[in-house]
Amino acid sequence: MQNNLLQKVYSPKFFQEKGHQLINELTAHLDDKLNEKSEKAIHWNGPEEELKFWKDFLKNGDENDLFKTITERTTYVHHPKYIGHQVSPAAPITALTGMISSLLNNGMAVYEMGMSPSAIERVVTDIICEKIGWDSEARGFLTSGGTLANLTALLAARKAILKDDIWNDGLQKSIGIMVSEEAHYCVDRAARIMGLGEKGIIKIPCTESFQMDTSVLEEIYRKATVDGITIFAIVGSAPSTATGIFDDLEAIGEFAQNHSLWFHVDGAHGGAGIFSQKYKHTLKGIGGADSVVIDGHKMMMLPTITTALLLKNGVYANATFRQKADYLLTESDHEDWYNSGKRTFECTKTMMSIHWFAMLKLYGEEVFDAYVTQLYDRGAEFGGMIENHPSFLVAVKPMANIVCFRYTQPGFSQTQLNDLNAKIRQNLLEEGEFYIVQTKLRGWHYLRVTVMNPFTTKHHFQKLLDKIVIMAQQLIGKETITY
Ligand SMILES: *Cc1c(COP(=O)(O)O)cnc(C)c1O
Repeated sequence: MQNNLLQKVYSPKFFQEKGHQLINELTAHLDDKLNEKSEKAIHWNGPEEELKFWKDFLKNGDENDLFKTITERTTYVHHPKYIGHQVSPAAPITALTGMISSLLNNGMAVYEMGMSPSAIERVVTDIICEKIGWDSEARGFLTSGGTLANLTALLAARKAILKDDIWNDGLQKSIGIMVSEEAHYCVDRAARIMGLGEKGIIKIPCTESFQMDTSVLEEIYRKATVDGITIFAIVGSAPSTATGIFDDLEAIGEFAQNHSLWFHVDGAHGGAGIFSQKYKHTLKGIGGADSVVIDGHKMMMLPTITTALLLKNGVYANATFRQKADYLLTESDHEDWYNSGKRTFECTKTMMSIHWFAMLKLYGEEVFDAYVTQLYDRGAEFGGMIENHPSFLVAVKPMANIVCFRYTQPGFSQTQLNDLNAKIRQNLLEEGEFYIVQTKLRGWHYLRVTVMNPFTTKHHFQKLLDKIVIMAQQLIGKETITY
């Protein structure tokens, strides 16, 4: 080959050298974070500062420092004091499967472009469908994220339930879905993309404990119907993202059946609970769903993004996108489960099935039980600690590994307390020892913790609470709180 640059790019020797260096660096990173040799869970820099750094690095940085610098200047999900967003500390073996996916680059749109990952995807999704409690008619496929999976599920629902051929004719009438006011925002977004508009998103209020109030479903359904909206689906959250509270899937399923609606379960976070002997009760009624979304990158230790969309009746998987792409897909009268692109929104996607399969092969499905059970146990433990602490209030007793709580101070107004808790969270972020997040619930500003690391313990929770108490007293002392 004439071009030296391209020769360098594809040099196996260069790859090997860099690869060994990287594995060594990542191993050190893991040891450092998991074992808390490094103090911080996040190396916080503001966006402008970070932007400046990387602009400069592109010009002046040493290429040998590239991987290490990326790794250091970011958020450490493997640190036991990372208790923020719902992203799992990826099982290290899946970093290796990730490498296979990137290098082999089998796009999987058609079987020939990914034979092993396509067959493996069937194996993995069949296991999940069986765990949900469905029979051999069920099928699943993997897709890029819970957001896209929820949209795909609602498109399948629309095709399956409505007589109209909306795919070809467009929307000719008002259609709608029912969903809890606490559902993930992506359901709202999916509905808007589908042209349902504001009026087609029928929000169901929640009970005191942030669960969809199923006692008002009939009344709201009747009203929507009188208003001329044809409802075709209802979405249950398992659990809702902000609070970690599970909807009553049994009651929603029964309602859906009575009105011939599609019942979709957004189990992006908690769907993995089907593997937990102790906590699968949180998903009671999931077998009655028509479709379920589960994010592997949340509660199953897989890397972002690895999502399963499962359908009780596999026939609908192929019907959703009836779009001609004849150059890719040959019409077939049998079920060609192996041509992934027929069923997914994506054409090309990554070989995400191999992460799931490697976990099953190396550790067995009990590894998912161990992970979910451990984290939900810790959520309950932290919830209990908050309840027994005079300076904190919990938003709702946790059902999973998500805990919303706030610092409280006698004599302070809601505005002052909101301001105080927002400042606490900002201080924590900038200081970086712990990484936690925040949310607004019914006008109150809450601190929010998601326990994602199996090595986070009671001792860490105690340290966090102690730290917040000191921080709060300092903020109050400085009178930085708005009056
Ligand atoms: C995280 C989450 C989503 C979005 O999933 P992504 O994989 O981040 O796109 C949707 N619904 C719920 C309930 C979630 O927790």
